[in-house]
Order: sequence, then structure tokens, then C-alpha cells
Amino acid sequence: MSSMIPTLTGEVPGAELGTTLVHEHLIVSDPQLDRDLPHAEWDEAAVMTEAERQLQALAELGVETIVDLTVPGLGRDVRRVAELARRTSVRILAATGWYTSDVLPHFFKLNGPGRLVEGPDPLLQLFLGDIQEGIAGTDLRAAIIKVCSDRAGITDDVAQVFTAAAQAHRITGAPITTHSDPSSRGGFDQQKLLGRLGVDLARVVIGHSGDSTDLGYLRELAAAGSFLGFDRFGMIHAGSDENRIRMLLALLDLGLQDQLLLSHDAAIFSRITPPSWRAAHAPHWRMDHLHRRILPRLRTEGLDPALERRLMVDNPRRMLTGA
Ligand SMILES: [Zn+2]
Repeated sequence: MSSMIPTLTGEVPGAELGTTLVHEHLIVSDPQLDRDLPHAEWDEAAVMTEAERQLQALAELGVETIVDLTVPGLGRDVRRVAELARRTSVRILAATGWYTSDVLPHFFKLNGPGRLVEGPDPLLQLFLGDIQEGIAGTDLRAAIIKVCSDRAGITDDVAQVFTAAAQAHRITGAPITTHSDPSSRGGFDQQKLLGRLGVDLARVVIGHSGDSTDLGYLRELAAAGSFLGFDRFGMIHAGSDENRIRMLLALLDLGLQDQLLLSHDAAIFSRITPPSWRAAHAPHWRMDHLHRRILPRLRTEGLDPALERRLMVDNPRRMLTGA
């Protein structure tokens, strides 16, 4: 892959990405439900205004780039996100992939090579089109591929997604980032499958690894070469920030500073956990949490400016460019 990275406001050299949040969501929705069971808290114009306000505040805190991992299955709408990228000074990167941790829509089971309706693999077509041409008829290209597995492990349908993702990675060089279930040590199965499919594990982020308190598990994932996502700061219903900080410091002590990525997995609006729920149950689960609370705390634990730059600037750039 070239060192030029596609963003929603044009290509930039990897060196210009700056401070980057590698795993976030701007707007998580569901086009079918939005039409047939609209959410009481969803008001597109109001959400766009709020998103613009929050993104501009992030820019003022020093966030330069956000990777929006909202892929199909989570209601990706690239035109909406591109509009936010144009309205603010934060750079936004889009992702391709398919969000399911167990079952795919029926379409993908009956269409494709060797399937009832014979033809090319629609998942591979989607991923390649998004990366090489543009998403949903635009010229806005995806910079990264997102895949998921969870408690159910690598189901047949999850394997189908991983297989298409690995092919798209091998053709385009785009990195792969995952949703994993650390409580079942799910990153191992992801690495095993992606490795078997010919993916360079150094171009893979095992997402949500920061929710694990199993140091042996994390060391082994890192030893296979992947990045570890400490990407849910503020998501207290999935684990405490105290544990995330403790595990992060332990991995830094082991010299793994080049394989750690920090982010929040937060959203400006998600119908799954709407703003009223977040305000009551996870009030700091926002994209400013690292800058407002976690990085200052880590500085008191010895995080110096050079190491902070490595975590927030250099590692995201290396993950995205492979350079
Ligand atoms: Zn996520």
C-alpha cells in the first residue's frame, strides 16, 4: 500500500495524519429500523449539529484524525460522515467490512461462487470497490477493513467475512482491524485464521484487547506481531479504565510500545446505546476522554511526550500505512 491515505476530504501522506483515534464511530444506525421503527432520540439535523460541535472540540484538544469503523451492518452512511469531515477540521477515515459476529444477511449465503445464485463473491466486490473506487457510488475510499468475531467464535458466516477481508487485504494492502472478545481469548482464533489466509499479522489490529486483564494472552497476541487495541477507554460496561491503564502500563514495561493503539470505540449517536443511556451509564465514553482524563493520568504514571507521540501518532500511522 502506498503511504498516501484516503480520507473523506482527500488523500494525505501518512506523515500528516497526526494524533489519531483509530477505533471510533460517528453515527451508528440501522437504515431499515430508521425507516420502520424510528428511534425517539434520532433527529438527523440535531445529531449532525451536535457531531460538528463535538468534532470541532476534539480538534481544539489536538485530535487530528479519526478512523470511523462504522461499516455496513452498523448503518454506515459515508455521505453523512463526509459532510462532517468537510464541516470540521478533523480528518476522518472510512472503513469497509461487514459487522456481524455470527450470522450474515441471507443474500450473502445464496449469492457468490458455488452458491445458489452463481456469481462473484459480493463481500469481496464490496470491500474492493470501497477501497479501490469509492463507497456507495462516491469517490470516497475506505482506508481499512473491519471484521468481527465474538463469543460464538469463528462461525461459518464470520469465516466468510474474514476470507473476503483477507483477499481484499492481499490485493490492496489495506490493514485489517477487528472486534474481538477478549474474555474468550478470541484474538487467538482471529490471528490463526487470518494467518492461514495469508494476512501479514503485523497489519492486523486485534480490537478491544484492552478489555482483557490476562497479561499472558496479551503478550502472546503481541508476539504474533499484531497491534493491540486499547480502544474502549470510557466504556465502563465492558471493563474499568483502571484495569485498562494497569494492563497498558504492564505492556509498556515489557517494551511493547510499538504495538499499542489507544481509542474509545465511542459514538456521537448510536441507536444501540442512545445518548440518554450513555449520559446515565457511561458519561465519559466520549472521544475526548483520552485527552481530558486518560492521557493526563498516564503522564502522572510516567508517559513522556516521546512515548505519547509514539502511541497517538506513530503507531496509528504505521498501522494504516504499513510503513
Ligand atoms: Zn467499534
